[in-house]
Amino acid sequence: MVQKMTSLFEVDNLHVAYRSQAGGDFPALAGVSFHMQAGETLGVLGESGSGKSTLAAALLRLLPANGRIQKGAVRFESEDLLQKQARELEKIRGSRIGLIFQEPSLALHPMIRVRDQIKNVISAHESLDRRALQQKTLNILTALFSEEAKRIGDSYPHQLSGGQRQRALIAQTIACGPLLLVADEPTASLDPSTQQEILALLRTLRLQLNLAMMLISHSPAVLAGFADRILVLYAGRVAETGPAEEVLKSPQHPYTRALLACLPPSIALSPTRKSKLPVIAGESPHLAQLAKGCQFEPRCGERMGVCIEKEPAEVMLSKSHGVSCFKYGG
Ligand code: ATP
Ligand code: MG
Repeated sequence: MVQKMTSLFEVDNLHVAYRSQAGGDFPALAGVSFHMQAGETLGVLGESGSGKSTLAAALLRLLPANGRIQKGAVRFESEDLLQKQARELEKIRGSRIGLIFQEPSLALHPMIRVRDQIKNVISAHESLDRRALQQKTLNILTALFSEEAKRIGDSYPHQLSGGQRQRALIAQTIACGPLLLVADEPTASLDPSTQQEILALLRTLRLQLNLAMMLISHSPAVLAGFADRILVLYAGRVAETGPAEEVLKSPQHPYTRALLACLPPSIALSPTRKSKLPVIAGESPHLAQLAKGCQFEPRCGERMGVCIEKEPAEVMLSKSHGVSCFKYGG
C-alpha cells in the first residue's frame, strides 16, 4: 500500500458483498485500501458499477440491507468505525464526517423548511440555546446563499432549483464543522454551469474549512484540477492510485488509460490522445460473473497469460503511485 503518515482517514483491506435474492454473496468491493490526510482531496474514479457508491456507503455503514462488510477496517482519527456502536457512529456521521449524494432531494426532507433542516442537524450534535442556534443557522445560510439566505431558509426543498437544493444539502453537511466530506457524484444531476458552480463552492469550502474530501465521479474531467490524489476503481478493486496529475496525465493501468481515452477532445487531459473518441470495448463485469484473475482482463488490450490465472497485487511505481497490473510485475 501507498506509504502513509498519520492519516485522518484510513481504509484497510475493505471487502463488501451483496446478498442476492437466491442467497449467494457477490463481492462488490474486494481489498480496497487507501488513506487520506487532513485537508486532502481524494478523487474516486470508475465506470458505472465499479463500486464507488458501495464504497461511500460502506465507509459510514450505510449499506442497504442486503449489503455486508465482510472484513477490513475504516479508521477515522485512528478509531475503527466498523467496531463502533450504532449510537457512537451516529454522532460522528453528520458532525465529523459529512455525506453528500448525487440527488439532494433524497437527502432533504420535502416537508421541512431548509432553515429548520439545518437547525435540526446542528441541534442533533450540539447543545446550543435558541438564540445561538438561530444565529449559527443564519451564518451558514448566509455563507452559502448571501443575500438570498432568508428566502432560501424559509423555503421548502421543492421551491428551490437543483443547484440551490444541492447548496442547501451542503449547508446541512458542513453545519457541524466536519473534518471529512464524502461526496458521491455531487454534481451529476445538475446542468453544466450549475455543476461548475457547485464544484467551485466545494473547492472554496475545502480551503476555508481545511476539509478532507472524497469526491466520487465517473468523470476524470470533474476530478482534474480538484483532486490531490486519484483512486481508480474497477470491479470493486483499486486499479491505480497516485497523485492526480500523474494518474490523469500519465495513467499506467490499461483501464485508467482506456477511461481517459474516452474523454471528449475539449476536455482532453493528455496531449497524446487521438482525435477520434474511443469507448472501452466490452462491459464492466456483473458481480455474479467475476472470474479468477484480473477483472479487467477480458477488456484489456494488453492482456498476458498470467492475467487469467490470478489477481495482480499492487506494484508501487514510486512512493505514492501504485498500479495493480502484471505489466509492472504484480
Ligand atoms: P454508478 O456510477 O452507476 O453510480 P457505482 O460505481 O456507484 O456505479 P455501485 O452502485 O457501488 O457502483 O455498485 C457496484 C456493484 O454492486 C454493481 O454491480 C451493482 O449492480 C451492485 N449493487 C449495488 N447495490 C446493490 C444491492 N443493493 N444489491 C445487489 N447488488 C448491488
Ligand atoms: Mg454510484
